[in-house]
Amino acid sequence: MFDNLSERLERSFKILKGEGKITEINVAETLKDVRRALLDADVNYKVAKNFTDTVKEKALGQNVLTAVKPSQLMVKIVHDELAKLMGGDTVELELKGRPAVILMSGLQGSGKTTFSGKLARMFKSKKNRKPLLVACDVYRPAAIDQLKVLGEQVEVPVYSEPDSKDPVQIALNAIQEAKAKGYDLVIVDTAGRLAIDEQMMNEIAAIKNAITPDATLFVVDAMTGQDAVNTAREFNERLDFTGVVLTKLDGDTRGGAALSIRTVVNKPILFVGTGEKLDAVDLFHPARMADRILG
Ligand code: GDP
Repeated sequence: MFDNLSERLERSFKILKGEGKITEINVAETLKDVRRALLDADVNYKVAKNFTDTVKEKALGQNVLTAVKPSQLMVKIVHDELAKLMGGDTVELELKGRPAVILMSGLQGSGKTTFSGKLARMFKSKKNRKPLLVACDVYRPAAIDQLKVLGEQVEVPVYSEPDSKDPVQIALNAIQEAKAKGYDLVIVDTAGRLAIDEQMMNEIAAIKNAITPDATLFVVDAMTGQDAVNTAREFNERLDFTGVVLTKLDGDTRGGAALSIRTVVNKPILFVGTGEKLDAVDLFHPARMADRILG
């Protein structure tokens, strides 16, 4: 697909001829390579620019050890800075309530419903939780059916009210049901739209206000590249979400959306989706994502 950054940098440094130190001149040249690599990985343009400015400061004047090529040093600086900006360490979702309530948000097609199933499965098998899935999409009956199919696959019950047009009430009723029946984790799947619209935002904000979840997760398709940032910004402005789920990382995107979203909304990326199957999910690892972005 694209050259990886190491190859590009090696070429640039070769042209500049074996400098023993990273200087103003060779940094300017190689930062172009870094920026190009980030843009190829779908990192937002402004984010890429700010990033290369930071890397420039870090790189300038660094003595290159004889054992290390300048290109290798540069790649290490870029890698470490990328991982740091994406949070450094893996962040675990903290859930205190009993039942703990997780509200899912995101555009239609982002992988929200699939991820709700993945989350239920994960908490059930790894954390010994007793989850209840809740179908709050009152517009598309197919969405309720989809969640039911997923629920059956992971052996988690699904709460729905097919005749209701009031998602806030459905969510509240589901939490009552969870309390009555001893479920300790409620995962509320909500309606998405193909693009952001006021009604959807109002609705999900109303659900959030009514149920005060332990966590609100924003689900975004990594393949949407640069658009992912704008969507994340708008959802965060309305919902002040807890963290991000980046789906479809099994596709051929380098995943630059992770860096853009993290820097622009300053919320942790908590999980990644890596396939359609219900076990295709992982915690987010910044250093691994840095490797992937750099190719
Ligand atoms: P929703 O509209 O946001 O609820 O999205 P869905 O959960 O219905 O997912 C939309 C499509 O994306 C479905 O075909 C899913 O199977 C698929 N999907 C969801 N997550 C992933 C993922 O991590 N990788 C891949 N390849 N497909 C995914």
